[in-house]
Order: sequence, then structure tokens, then C-alpha cells
Amino acid sequence: MTKIMYGTELANKMRSDLKNEVEDLAKKNIQPGLAVIIVGDDYASKTYVRIKRNAAEKIGIYSKIVEFTDDLQEETLIKKINEFNEDESIHGILVQLPLPPQIDERKILETIKPEKDVDGFHPINVGRLSNNQPGFIPCTPLGIEKMLTYYGVEVAGKHAVIVGRSNIVGKPIGQILLNKDATVTFCHSKTKNLKEITKQADLLIVAVGQAHTITEDMIKKGAVIVDVGNTYLESGKVVGDVAFEEVKEKADFITPVPKGVGPMTITMLLYNTVLSAKTQISQD
Ligand code: NDP
Repeated sequence: MTKIMYGTELANKMRSDLKNEVEDLAKKNIQPGLAVIIVGDDYASKTYVRIKRNAAEKIGIYSKIVEFTDDLQEETLIKKINEFNEDESIHGILVQLPLPPQIDERKILETIKPEKDVDGFHPINVGRLSNNQPGFIPCTPLGIEKMLTYYGVEVAGKHAVIVGRSNIVGKPIGQILLNKDATVTFCHSKTKNLKEITKQADLLIVAVGQAHTITEDMIKKGAVIVDVGNTYLESGKVVGDVAFEEVKEKADFITPVPKGVGPMTITMLLYNTVLSAKTQISQD
């Protein structure tokens, strides 16, 4: 019988545990603080920021949102990040992407202090993950790792195939699984014979952003399938990259869309912010 891995279930449990941790920190007069910077008027970005703020406040994290117009100069953004870098009430700094073209995204991400980089995009944190050293791990892949552990999916020795090689999902989840002793193969838009490779996967992670990229004939019987994709149809419905109804008949474990990986991503942002506050206390 196929097990559906709901992210909502684990996300609710983790948020409740994090709320307790924030209450414990309050007894030591510490309130984790998250600064979110948004540039421009993009509707989706504004929605994500609102959801992040509400989720943070629900568990007692203080959040500070700074909004800039899309004609913002790079130096102004760097100055604001540096203020947050020095602000002791802020433990996590997040710059909502994408940024307008006059701003160099890499330079901005490198301005955030690695100790406050709760998105895990700073090259120092990317390097730490690559070296299997402690550091901030990007939220979506970290959420996937937590889900696999929660649902008892063994990783060591498995052939993990990752479809998608972005810096925010594909590469870091591959690195996490490699660190956990999986044998990892990356696929992308130039991969030839995708189906031949996905059919070998014991664990298939799909982060492409195109509905129905993975169909039933592309998977091995008994595989574990994690669908990261989000595509909004004209009807307003959101679907993943995997043809869920047909694939679920053949898989042993599968995440749905919605209610799969998505709810874990924001939970991991809260997790990283609380972790940052705890780490900073232990260093005082
Ligand atoms: P990107 O667009 O950055 O990366 C997509 C990747 O898919 C690229 O590596 C691309 O290859 C590869 N790709 C594109 N077409 C194909 C194809 N036909 N076959 C194989 N590989 C292909 O996307 P993201 O990683 O940022 O996001 C992926 C999806 O996950 C999106 O739908 C996004 O909305 C969703 N997402 C969901 C999150 C959540 O919390 N649920 C969080 C983050 C993302 P190449 O490198 O060659 O171009």
C-alpha cells in the first residue's frame, strides 16, 4: 500500500515544537528575530513574504519586513543588510528573490553574514554543506530531508536521482543525500534519455517546474517519489511535476502537491531562525 507523505503533518508537529523552544528562549530574555527584505511589487513575492511573517509570528518569532521599490540602488540594499548584520535582535536575514536586474544577486547574498543566512544561500554555507560541516541548509531541501526521516525512508545505499539542478533545490538536496550515503545522479534539461535514468531511481526527487514531467512509465516499482514542483493551472489549481494519480499506484512512498514539500519549506525557515538564535546564545 502506497504511503502518502504529507508535509503538513510534520510541519504542524515541528511548528508546535518550535513554539515551545521559542517560549524557553523567552525565559532567557531572547526572542528570535527574522528580517525579510523585499524589493519591488511582485505579487507572488509579496504573498510569500506575508505567509513567512504570519508563520513566524504564530510561533513567537519577531519579524521585521523592509520593502523597497524596484528602482532601488544596490548600495542602499547592501547598507540595509549590513544594519541587520550588526543588529543583535535579528538572528536571520532573508532577501526575497528574484531581485531587479540592476542588483547583483550573488553580491547581495554574499553580504548577509553566514551566521544569519537562514536561507543557506551564502557560498560559505554552500561550502559547509558540500564539506558535510554544520551550517545553514536551504529550506526546501532541508524540509525534504526531515520528511524522509519522519516517514522512515532509508537513504544510505539507495540510488537517488535528482531531476533539476538549481542552487536552491536540486543541488543542495543531492548534496544532502550524498552526505547520507546515497548514490546520487543529477538530471537536467540537457540530460539524454531521462526515462532510462529515472527508472533506476530508488529515490526520485523532482524539481523542474513543469507539470507531468514524470509519468508512471518513468519510475521503478516501489520507488520513493518526492515532488517539489509547483505549477499553477489557469483554473487556479496547483499541480506538481509528477503525474500523481498514475505514479502513486507504482510507488511505495510519494509526496502530494499541494500539502507535500511546500509546508515544510516555511517551517524550515522558522527552524533555521530558532537554530540561529540558539547558536548565538551558546556563543555569548
Ligand atoms: P529552476 O527553474 O531554477 O530549475 C529547474 C531545473 O529543472 C533546472 O535545473 C532545469 O535544467 C531542469 N529542467 C527543466 N526542464 C527539464 C526537463 N524537461 N527535464 C529535466 N530537467 C529539466 O527551478 P527551482 O529549482 O527553483 O524550482 C523547481 C520547481 O520547484 C518549481 O516549480 C518551483 O516553483 C518549485 N519550488 C517549490 C518549493 C516548495 O516549497 N514547494 C520551493 C522551491 C521551488 P537546466 O539547469 O538545464 O536549465
